Amino acid sequence: MKLHFKPLTVFDVSRTGVSGAGIFDPDFKSDEVPDWLEESDRRSQPVGLPELSEVDVVRHFTNLSYSSHGVDNGPYPLGSCTMKYNPKRNDALAQLEGFSCTHPLQPPDTLQGLWDLMLELQGHLAELTGMDYVSLQGAAGAHGEFNGLLIIRKYFEEKGQDRRMILIPDSAHGTNPASAAMAGFECEIIPTTRDGLMDLDSMERHLNKNVAALMLTNPSTLGLFEENIQEIAAKLHANGSLLYYDGANLNALMGIVRPGDMGFDVIHVNTHKTLSTPHGGGGPGAGPVGVKKLLEPYLPLPVIRAIDGQAQPDYNRPRSIGKIKSFYGHVEVLIRAYCYILTNGAAGLRTATENAVLNANYMQHRLGELLPALFKQRCMHECLVSGGDLNVNAADFVKRLIDFGVHPPTLVGAGCVHFDVKYGTAMLIEPTETESRASLDFMVEQFLTVAREAAVAPYMIETAPHTTSVAKVIKDEAAYLTLLKA
Ligand SMILES: *Cc1c(COP(=O)(O)O)cnc(C)c1O
Repeated sequence: MKLHFKPLTVFDVSRTGVSGAGIFDPDFKSDEVPDWLEESDRRSQPVGLPELSEVDVVRHFTNLSYSSHGVDNGPYPLGSCTMKYNPKRNDALAQLEGFSCTHPLQPPDTLQGLWDLMLELQGHLAELTGMDYVSLQGAAGAHGEFNGLLIIRKYFEEKGQDRRMILIPDSAHGTNPASAAMAGFECEIIPTTRDGLMDLDSMERHLNKNVAALMLTNPSTLGLFEENIQEIAAKLHANGSLLYYDGANLNALMGIVRPGDMGFDVIHVNTHKTLSTPHGGGGPGAGPVGVKKLLEPYLPLPVIRAIDGQAQPDYNRPRSIGKIKSFYGHVEVLIRAYCYILTNGAAGLRTATENAVLNANYMQHRLGELLPALFKQRCMHECLVSGGDLNVNAADFVKRLIDFGVHPPTLVGAGCVHFDVKYGTAMLIEPTETESRASLDFMVEQFLTVAREAAVAPYMIETAPHTTSVAKVIKDEAAYLTLLKA
């Protein structure tokens, strides 16, 4: 029995002699070789390209595009990752010839428009985050973290302080400790209290003259606002340490509060998440870094500045951490962020945030009957619900959602997010502001359907997904087949 639609490769559907294009030059002879072509340069074997008619090509690639789940064909509530709908207008604008046909090595005076745009974007990001200066160089969130940490390292080196330790809450994204290690630091993990906030007492116990910074995500990846943020900032600064903001969850705050005002010294923004670029599967992204004035000299090269009234890249920065990316960073992602900001305006950005938070609370409330929230307070832009009382493993539960047209939410405790085992069976759901009320209701229904199924037919969940081109490795395939036939 063939259970899964297996996408064929373009070579599988090739048929010898079929062609998509006809050449109607009556004088053309395909086996005629021009005299000037050397014998040694002539092909001795057929090139081995697939042979398809035009309609076969269209069908092949259209069918392939359906074989994975994306934001454009269904809801994608993958907590922390912010898989929201990305307006196609921004793609079209980034593809304008003046941008897409630009080469970073073309004469500098032909790049003025791009530099103007970048300088303006730096300004918007600084205003949005409450930071003094912004660099657009970072290639993604994790790369922004790495840049920020190199800046912190250089700052303490210049001060002659040997601080080697970065404090990181156990709810942080896995990239935080990874970036800290790559930037040459050691990490100390701070536990989370029962109410989901960072354990302040534990943080204080670990504060000493070896601590360079605390990396904090606010709201955290438990979907909660770190209420003690001002106290946390004061304690770190009193210790001479800095505060790093992981801006992946900026879409919960944008237009309402600013990390700069909370006391953060260095931040990164995942423009592909909050400011919308199609991303996933590893890219593309951009991770601009914002700093307070005291860290400005260390920003990576180049920084776009107004020199003699004109936006220009400034390479004359002797205290910089240096180059961390070729040319100007991921420019076409940055253009999308620029368009997103201008299209929404200040009021629109704030509304996006408000709707993101509203939607997450709506789902938290409606799912509560079968999938209770882990924390009782209101959530921010994502909610954490327990799968602990289900008859099945949460890892299997979320895969079954795929059969019902919903992308799995983030599993906490599962590889990609560093979580304490006490949250091992929880699901982090981020509906995002671009889902309508109808779409939220649809998602809720699918979650509840699978939760009810867990009670009566757990095997259907344990063996899911059943409708995808790639299946789960199943231990007892014979039992599975029998069950499906029944
Ligand atoms: C996505 C994410 C990151 C990493 O960002 P990338 O752009 O994927 O490198 C870091 N922290 C948090 C909380 C995230 O959600």
